[in-house]
Amino acid sequence: MLTRVKSAVANFMGGIMAGGSSGENVSGCDLPLKFPYMRPEFLGLSQDEIECSADHISRPILILKETKRLPWATGYAEVINAGKSALNEDQACCEVVEVKKRTGGSTPSRTPTAKRRSSLPNGEGVGLRDSADADGLLFHYWALFDGHAGSGAAVVASRLLQHHLVEQLQEVLEVLRNSALLPPTCLGEEPGATPGSHRALTRAASLRGAAGAPGSPGTPPTRFFTEKKVEHESLVVGALENAFKEMDAQIEREKSVYNISGGCTALVAVFLLGKLYMANAGDSRAIIIRSGEVIPMSTEFTPESERQRLQFLGYMQPHLLGNEFTHLEFPRRVQRKEVGKRMLYRDFTMNGWAYKTIEDEDLKFPLIYGEGKKARVMATIGVTRGLGDHDLKVHDSNIYIKPFLSCCPEVKVYPLTQYEHGADDVLVMGSDGLWDVLSNEEVSEAVTGFLANCDPDDLHRYTMAAQDLVMRARGVLKDRGWRISNDRLGSGDDISVYIIPLLHGNRQP
Ligand code: MG
Repeated sequence: MLTRVKSAVANFMGGIMAGGSSGENVSGCDLPLKFPYMRPEFLGLSQDEIECSADHISRPILILKETKRLPWATGYAEVINAGKSALNEDQACCEVVEVKKRTGGSTPSRTPTAKRRSSLPNGEGVGLRDSADADGLLFHYWALFDGHAGSGAAVVASRLLQHHLVEQLQEVLEVLRNSALLPPTCLGEEPGATPGSHRALTRAASLRGAAGAPGSPGTPPTRFFTEKKVEHESLVVGALENAFKEMDAQIEREKSVYNISGGCTALVAVFLLGKLYMANAGDSRAIIIRSGEVIPMSTEFTPESERQRLQFLGYMQPHLLGNEFTHLEFPRRVQRKEVGKRMLYRDFTMNGWAYKTIEDEDLKFPLIYGEGKKARVMATIGVTRGLGDHDLKVHDSNIYIKPFLSCCPEVKVYPLTQYEHGADDVLVMGSDGLWDVLSNEEVSEAVTGFLANCDPDDLHRYTMAAQDLVMRARGVLKDRGWRISNDRLGSGDDISVYIIPLLHGNRQP
């Protein structure tokens, strides 16, 4: 077992599994690809340019061409890794998407489709649809996916996740539309109720409540009629959560028909009806920089940050540990000669540490082992939420990792239109290749400083700022590898960055 784990650890680097990276049929799988490997559609690269972008020696930084425009003048830049995998395993997608009322039966199709309005200049017309067909909603969508063990899952998610979101939003479309037209109110009725009928339902409930007052014979007490208040934004949060779940389920379903390699993290921003929703499953990160101040918009999900959830699962379902791992954590590997001695340990109930007497059971390999970027679940993977990875096993074993991984995102909400934003107030979304080497404060200083020196009317300034950030994280090639400021090691990972000006959100209806 120890040899196996050592061997497994040796095969992983930078928090991500190496090998099997190209998205081609490297795994020996004869199934066709669901989608071919590509770079983000909005970059508009030719096949030649895509091949040139994969040069691990020069690591060219790709940016949005001046002729291309993303909604809100969003800036974007990316660079490939330093040789960790043959191709860039990060993927990105940015669109303005339309949610239309579902026609026909109420059962959603298994292959969702959405009408999109890609690359609208500044995303005009966002919000309620044009009056010509006033039964839809538009939302802005920015997504980053960081693949591992192949680019298959990241490519598939970058092409399909927004369609799953559309399908989920269709379920609550009328309620959301009504919320945009009416003052805030509590929800509780079925989607499809008109504003008038909602008021009627509320009144009826109130009357029922009155009828159920103490002393009314034969009427249940009022408490049986009370309903939990559900905020409108919770419906969008729920739609995002279920979209991630459905995306993961589709990958699992279709991996028997297509070669969908590996897994990926997912970081998604959605602007809908005046609010910005940030959904994160993985170790990418988003921050808002407002008047130079940093507002974190995501938290990373790693073996360390999710230790207690993982340990609890191992405790509750020990068969998932394959009789080879222990759910307990120790400060170091326990040796056989230490059986019977006292050692510090942590269980799922604990943030602190305590002593226990070592038993044979404790000699098993820890479920979570390593620190920081080197921390791994079952000596295999360094990220604990994302999509895909259904076939991922502990090296040379039949122990599946997937039960320990969650596809559920954490969703944070930023009431964008409640704030005034200047031209230099931005949302920065980056894959871990950026944040591994630059802190929030360094990114904030770099972006704020860069934008201050740009022409405020130049809409390409956000792409130039993204390029500058990627350059700062990649560094320059010196004798001993890629170096950034203060002779620190540059990021050898794929790096992808959006810089999204928030000012444009204030201009939406
Ligand atoms: Mg990465």
